[in-house]
Amino acid sequence: MELIVQKFGGSSLADAAGVMNVARVVTDTYKSGKDVVVVVSAQGDTTDDLISKAKELNPKPSRREMDVLLSAGEQISIALLAMAIETMDIPVCSLLGWQAGFQTNSTYGSARIKTVSGERIRMEIDKRNIVIVAGFQGLCKYDDITTLGRGGSDTSAVAIAASLGAERCQIYTDVDGIYTADPRKVKTAKRLNEITYDEMLELATLGAQVLNNRSVEMAKKYNVEIEVLSNLGGIPGTIVKEVANVEKMLVRGVTKDTNVARISIIGVPDEPGVAFRLFGKLASKNVNVDIILQSVGRGNTKDIAFTVCKDDAPAVLELLDDSLEFLKGNEIVCDTAVAKVSVVGAGMETHPGTASKMFGALFENDINIQMISTSEIKISVLIDVHDADRAVEAVHNAFMPEDSCRD
Ligand code: ADP
Ligand code: ASP
Ligand code: MG
Repeated sequence: MELIVQKFGGSSLADAAGVMNVARVVTDTYKSGKDVVVVVSAQGDTTDDLISKAKELNPKPSRREMDVLLSAGEQISIALLAMAIETMDIPVCSLLGWQAGFQTNSTYGSARIKTVSGERIRMEIDKRNIVIVAGFQGLCKYDDITTLGRGGSDTSAVAIAASLGAERCQIYTDVDGIYTADPRKVKTAKRLNEITYDEMLELATLGAQVLNNRSVEMAKKYNVEIEVLSNLGGIPGTIVKEVANVEKMLVRGVTKDTNVARISIIGVPDEPGVAFRLFGKLASKNVNVDIILQSVGRGNTKDIAFTVCKDDAPAVLELLDDSLEFLKGNEIVCDTAVAKVSVVGAGMETHPGTASKMFGALFENDINIQMISTSEIKISVLIDVHDADRAVEAVHNAFMPEDSCRD
């Protein structure tokens, strides 16, 4: 029998009506003769609320205990959805991550899935149960609960689809597909019928939260087709796959990431080995550095600026403080009021002029660029966070004039 994996995020399960709606979608699929595995995340803002509760008691809780706490959100969802389905007289069984066979590494808070044994899921499917699995969680080699990082339920769903060889992995959410920009922010955003793994991976990594980037990475690796679609049903959604039937579009999406901090070190010695020692130190502490900018030396000094994820900034500052002697730096400035705005599209590799078009749109809107970084299929700029929404809209509309924004 055909197997479908369906994932529902917090926005789809926020209250009893939402849970009932999900129960209907899932049971309709089941009644159409398919085997269904459902992956759910925590209801509404539950995960954020749990984080706040923890911080009330302990500003720096251990990652292990944080995972014990956060995994509770998904446990609530699986039980409630199962109860809703029970009222429809359809056999159902809820499973926590470890029961479903999710083995992860022991990086609490952002664990990576190693394997999904899937035996128990298979057993329940064979009994013709609808199987509901708690997303976002697994078990590490110390038999501890781990979580996969924010938005991790998407990855749980793709992992199950890959390990059970599902026909498709459907990600239901509160928008009806993947758009050329966040449809809640940019009115002219266009819904895409298809998008490649590579483009979606860039978009997700650069801030489009509609899919978690690790889920796209995994889908590409195991060739799982993802469909992003509306929890209200109706029209088909956007398919994410290896080769997309690309419409004539240079840019597939524009996105922003506000979870960024820029750290500048002013007046470091202008001599060989400084960048190596600085970034070596950061790498040894597993800090992910993104855009790097180094000024031309003047006198015997130069400035180095780089961006990191906002959550990492305090630890980086602490680290740099400890290393100040070795850096012989004068001043360290951390700016968290910044955002990264990016355009993504496989087509731009062969089209000169993409960068100038983007910079032109920003200039026309009087938006100052602080840093720039490019790769084959994306261009990112760092700007003042207060300009971020205006910048996304301006850049989006420069690449997608309104008349081409309708299917
Ligand atoms: P869920 O709770 O279902 O996991 P998320 O809030 O994580 O949902 O993701 C859906 C949201 O992603 C949408 O409400 C939308 O505002 C946002 N989003 C950002 N960029 C895009 C995009 N390019 N296309 C569609 N949605 C996007
Ligand atoms: N509940 C988790 C979060 O809020 C996982 C998810 O939603 O996918 O990040
Ligand atoms: Mg999500």
